[in-house]
Amino acid sequence: QQKIRIGIVGYGNLGRGVRSAIAQNPDMELVAVFSRRDPKSLEQRGESVRFVHIADVEQFRNDVDVMILCGGSATDLPEQTPQLASLFHTVDSFDTHAKIPAFFETVNTAALEGERVSVISTGWDPGLFSMNRLLAESILPEGKEYTFWGKGVSQGHSDAIRRVPGVQAGVQYTVPVQTAIDLIRSGETPELKTRDKHMRDCYVVAEDGADENAIREAIVSMPNYFSDYNTSVTFITAEELEREHSGMPHGGFVMRSGVTGAGTKQRIEFGLELESNPEFTASVLIAYARAAFKLAAEGQTGARTVFDIPLGHLSPKSAAELRKELL
Ligand code: NAP
Repeated sequence: QQKIRIGIVGYGNLGRGVRSAIAQNPDMELVAVFSRRDPKSLEQRGESVRFVHIADVEQFRNDVDVMILCGGSATDLPEQTPQLASLFHTVDSFDTHAKIPAFFETVNTAALEGERVSVISTGWDPGLFSMNRLLAESILPEGKEYTFWGKGVSQGHSDAIRRVPGVQAGVQYTVPVQTAIDLIRSGETPELKTRDKHMRDCYVVAEDGADENAIREAIVSMPNYFSDYNTSVTFITAEELEREHSGMPHGGFVMRSGVTGAGTKQRIEFGLELESNPEFTASVLIAYARAAFKLAAEGQTGARTVFDIPLGHLSPKSAAELRKELL
C-alpha cells in the first residue's frame, strides 16, 4: 500500500510535533518541511529532514498528498491556508474561535477552486472538544455545557507577563477551579462567572533590583488578561523557571449536565491531560490528514471541519476491521 505523502508548512512547536508523530504512523511519510526561513539555517539543527523555502512550494504539487499547516493562528494561517488550499489538500489547527466562520468561507472558496479538500480548525480546542460539545448537546438537549481548560500554559498570558516592566521571564498556567468541577460532577448546573471557573498562576523571574510588589500589582490588575480572575504571582529564579517550567502541558474537560425523562440526571464528560500540547495537537492533525486523503479519494472537495468528517476516516483500519475490533 502506498504511503500518504505529507508536507509540513511552518516549523515551530507544532511543526516539530507533526514530524515526530509521522514516525508513529506507518501509513505516512514526510516529504519536506516548508518554512519562510532560510532552509540552510534550519538544516544546521542536524535533523534528517528535507527543508524547502515556502516560495518553492508549488513545485511539490505532484509530490505531496496533504499539507499540514503549522503556522500561528493570529497572522500565519489566515494568509497561508487560503493560499495553499487551492494547490494541496490541507489540514490546520486555526483556533481563533470567533473568526472560524469567516475563515471557513475563505478556505472553502479556495479549496473548491483548486478541487482540493481542506480540514480547518482541528486539534483539541477547537477539535476534539468541539466534537464532544456537539455529541453531548445532541444527546442531552436539556442541559448545560461547561468547558474547563488546564492545568496548562497559556502562551498569550505568558507573553503578557513578559511585557510588564521589571520582568525578565515568566510563565502563566491556567488552572481550573476544582470546587466548580466538583459541583458539576455532583449533578448541579451552576451559573459560573469567569472568576469561578479558572485561576491564573504566574511564575515570574524579576530583573535585578526590580520592585516585586509593583510587578505583582501590574499583573493582577491587567485588564482582559488577569483582572477578571483570581491570580497568584510567585517569584522564582531563572534556574527554577528553566528546570520546572519549560514544558508545554495542557488539557481540560468538556462537561454537560442534563436531564432526561422526569428530571433524571445524566452527565457526559470528556477530559485531556497533556504533557505536551503541541505534540498532542500534532497527533490530531495527523489523523485528520488521513481523513482528508480519504475524502479526496472519494472525490470530495471544499473545506471541512471535525463536524463534517466520519470518525472512521481518522483510522488507518478498514470499516470492516473497525466494526469487528472497536464497535
Ligand atoms: P510557534 O512555535 O510560534 O510557530 C509558529 C510559526 O512561527 C512556525 O510555523 C514558524 O514558521 C515560525 N517560527 C517558529 N519558531 C521560530 C523561530 N525560532 N524563529 C522564527 N520563526 C519561527 O507556534 P506553535 O506552538 O507551533 O503553534 C502554532 C499554532 O497552533 C498556534 O498559533 C495555535 O493557534 C495552534 N494550536 C491549536 C490547537 C488546537 O487545539 N486547535 C492547539 C495548540 C496550538 P516558519 O517556519 O515559516 O518560520
